[in-house]
Amino acid sequence: MKNPCLRHGCSKCCYNTEMMLTENDVNRIISLGYQDFYYQKDGFIYLKNEDDKCIFLDENGRCKIYPHRPLGCKYYPHIYDYENDEILLDKDCPYRKEFSLESTEELKELVLTILCEREKRINSLSRGPFEFPEGISDKKGKHPEKESK
Ligand code: SF4
Repeated sequence: MKNPCLRHGCSKCCYNTEMMLTENDVNRIISLGYQDFYYQKDGFIYLKNEDDKCIFLDENGRCKIYPHRPLGCKYYPHIYDYENDEILLDKDCPYRKEFSLESTEELKELVLTILCEREKRINSLSRGPFEFPEGISDKKGKHPEKESK
């Protein structure tokens, strides 16, 4: 049976996405040959949009890197509310009621990984010139805190 996204031909969450990436997400996608698909803001790494939609969404509404997509995309519309320590279904998903609400430890781990990696980047900033984590390239050589969306 198709999942709700396929059943409804929906790609709503791929528009104006604010999806955060882990360093593993970035390195995995770089290994596919892509380069300019992410940006950094406030220490977090985000997926880029182009024409108000995810840079990897094709003209047919399909993800170009689906088998290798970021973990946050894989879990969505499940989101982890860090402050209340609970898994929720995001109210922005129109078909959220068709997903089962699973409390996955993997999703919590993902959020903690994103927060830890951010902390590491912020700390390295305060110690001196910023260095990108191993494997993450920045061809433009921009300072991440000054880089805009
Ligand atoms: S997760 Fe929700 S918003 Fe995203 S494509 Fe699937 S049904 Fe649409």
